[in-house]
Amino acid sequence: MDEFQHAVGECLVRHRSVLDVLSKFQEANARVHRAVAKAVTTCGCISVNARRPQIPAHSTLRDLKSYMDDHIEGKLCESCREVLEEELGKQLFYLVALCNLFDLNTFDILIKENRKLTTLGMYHIS
Ligand SMILES: [Zn+2]
Repeated sequence: MDEFQHAVGECLVRHRSVLDVLSKFQEANARVHRAVAKAVTTCGCISVNARRPQIPAHSTLRDLKSYMDDHIEGKLCESCREVLEEELGKQLFYLVALCNLFDLNTFDILIKENRKLTTLGMYHIS
């Protein structure tokens, strides 16, 4: 991760302004959404079937996971998977670029988040 962060810093010549990085990060996020939408509406390898979860009364917090659905039906085909990976990669690039601009270590952030997950478990609400 540190190596990737260094490489991003070396590559970030054209979009050095924080405003450029923020807008490119936002654009990359929109392209991730579009890749998923295209997999549904253009390719059709997956579909989204969403509805309100049916949670029985007196369920415990621990029970919730079994009632929650990802609403995805099917599996990404190879082509859509490649597109999504590409777009997520760009998003990761701009996330790391943002870290670089503020002198934040991406790996440290990852470790802190992992620590929260392991400490709080399912109570870690994001
Ligand atoms: Zn597909």
